[in-house]
Amino acid sequence: MSEEVGQLSCQELVELVTDYLEDALDDGTRARFELHVGLCHGCAAYLGQMEETATRLGSIPVDSLSTEATSTLLDAFRGFRR
Ligand SMILES: [Zn+2]
Repeated sequence: MSEEVGQLSCQELVELVTDYLEDALDDGTRARFELHVGLCHGCAAYLGQMEETATRLGSIPVDSLSTEATSTLLDAFRGFRR
């Protein structure tokens, strides 16, 4: 559609992880998601953890996407960035 796709924030990405893993994102959102993951080490690590957890449990732990968990993760992301 447009090349002027805004970048996702880390918080938006975290909120979209479940849909991403369920392959429920539309093409544009998916492209932005993958762009962000490609550029953001913290989110790449988070996505890897979620994929691993989803594989291990056989489902996606939606509880881990609570607001509290998200802010904890975002704090952790800041720690990854040096
Ligand atoms: Zn990020």
